[in-house]
Amino acid sequence: MQNRSRGRIPLSSAARETQIPEELVRLAAQPRVRVRRGRAPREDGVCVVYWMQRAMRIVDNPALDAAIEAANLLALPVVVYFQVIPNYPNANLRHYHFLQQGLRDVAEDAAAIGLGFVVRRAPATLEAFLEEVKAVLVIGDENPCREPERWRRTLARRLRIPYWTVDADVVVPSRIFERSFVLLHHFRPHLKAELPNYLVAPARIKPLHTWKPRKAPAAISLSEDIAKGFKTLDRSVGPVDSFTGGTHAALKRLGEFVNAELKEYVETRNHPEMRGTSRLSPYLHFGNIGPLTIARAVEKAVARGKASAMAGERYLEQLIGWRELAVLFVRHEPNYDNWECAAPWARKTLIEHAGDPRPHRYTLKQLERGETADELWNAAQREMVSSGWMHNYMRMYWAKKILEWAPDPATAFDWAVLLNDRYQLDGRDPNGYAGIAWAIVGKLDRPWFNRPIFGLVRPMTGTSISRKFDSQDYIRQQGGPGTLAFKTSDPGAECDSYQSLVLTECGGPSAGMAGYPTRLARAGRGAKRSAPEGS
Ligand SMILES: Cc1cc2nc3c(=O)[nH]c(=O)nc-3n(C[C@H](O)[C@H](O)[C@H](O)COP(=O)(O)OP(=O)(O)OC[C@H]3O[C@@H](n4cnc5c(N)ncnc54)[C@H](O)[C@@H]3O)c2cc1C
Repeated sequence: MQNRSRGRIPLSSAARETQIPEELVRLAAQPRVRVRRGRAPREDGVCVVYWMQRAMRIVDNPALDAAIEAANLLALPVVVYFQVIPNYPNANLRHYHFLQQGLRDVAEDAAAIGLGFVVRRAPATLEAFLEEVKAVLVIGDENPCREPERWRRTLARRLRIPYWTVDADVVVPSRIFERSFVLLHHFRPHLKAELPNYLVAPARIKPLHTWKPRKAPAAISLSEDIAKGFKTLDRSVGPVDSFTGGTHAALKRLGEFVNAELKEYVETRNHPEMRGTSRLSPYLHFGNIGPLTIARAVEKAVARGKASAMAGERYLEQLIGWRELAVLFVRHEPNYDNWECAAPWARKTLIEHAGDPRPHRYTLKQLERGETADELWNAAQREMVSSGWMHNYMRMYWAKKILEWAPDPATAFDWAVLLNDRYQLDGRDPNGYAGIAWAIVGKLDRPWFNRPIFGLVRPMTGTSISRKFDSQDYIRQQGGPGTLAFKTSDPGAECDSYQSLVLTECGGPSAGMAGYPTRLARAGRGAKRSAPEGS
């Protein structure tokens, strides 16, 4: 590095050849880090940039920690950059509102430790920002979903400075496994072997150099609507007040859960009429909180006798076992969000049962409005539409019923993804795609008993689940029988915008059983591409 004596790192002979400081090489070799563009840091640069996308937090963020560590090694400050884009796949006003709340916490927490934080709105670009602030190196986070991964690849091709990404939102870096698993119990022993290495106190790396630019770079204010002027943004799904976005709200909720509710988790987690689960999924999805923070808080609660070891274990099985299984599924399955990902046995059995009579058939519009003859299902749909979240037990039932009522399994998969991504705050997430694949096409599950429509795919009936919890109480809490999900807006009016995704619903050609799997799966997938910078 030129003109910098303070903090200068000695180079080994190998590192001297590449001009990459040796300690930086060591940092880049960690299993969580992926070097997407290697080369020596820019010589006349003055800062390290953390391109924040998925891990929207300052605390317990391995991607930010890597940026701080690299910057400390190079005796430079860190600036965090966030780019708001209008075309994040399937995001609507509800999601942008939650996102904006989270960014305010990032701004506050970044300032508290001397990090720069700049938010810009498209058409601004990351590349222009890197040039403007003279970044030596850019470090980002990871997201296994298709479009965000495409942005990262595009950027890696275009950049002239080094670009690394860090797998910041899982406890065990996905690279350790390099594969997906068919069932949780196949994954469990591999996970258990790795957990002692990763379920440890997060590094608390403090920046040694405060970011003090001579002239503050242009940035948008977080007190204004960050989505202002986005003409194509879907504003028909409004914000909800059931959740407040951000690290501060997430940590508060975590405290309440581990101190008071975790002890009942085993008994209450499958009771949708009770507040028996942590409701942290929106915060995990937006990266407002890291899974390691949650896991450590759970372990501490157990150690202090606030909850039983069994409650802690059951919770960590969801948080790490199921969640990281879902991440591996999405990372290694290109068709994670459509019927093509079906388990081979499920595909066969569902095709065999495709012609079975269906007692009810509903259109997408009827489902979206919660207008079925099944009050329990309607209540679940209302919970999702009005609060942006649905209980896990109801999510399973909700998706299974869509399989029963849609024209065919491929359409059922598409409809479930569409509704889930549209209304859930935690939608557009590997967990959602894995959950829908589990419910509809037997992924991450085993064959069950042969039944009409479902074949060998595990069925769920209202009668069977109502024996396990007070379904009437749940229906009452969601507004009672006969309440429509939509009181003020008409989702049907937006039917046109669905046309590319759901041909049959909007009067397009019905795919028919012979060719439906590939035709429906391809309809609309990847057709709309968004800009390579992500929010
Ligand atoms: C059809 C279907 C759709 C789903 N869609 C989503 C989705 O869009 N986004 C989402 O985050 N989860 C989804 N899930 C998984 C699960 O329902 C939610 O993660 C959970 O209900 C969130 O509530 P919680 O935070 O209170 O969970 P808790 O019971 O408190 O669990 C803690 C955390 O563990 C993880 N977790 C719990 N259950 C699962 C699971 N079955 N699979 C993977 N991770 C799990 C979540 O990150 C959750 O926040 C879906 C499941 C199904 C069956």
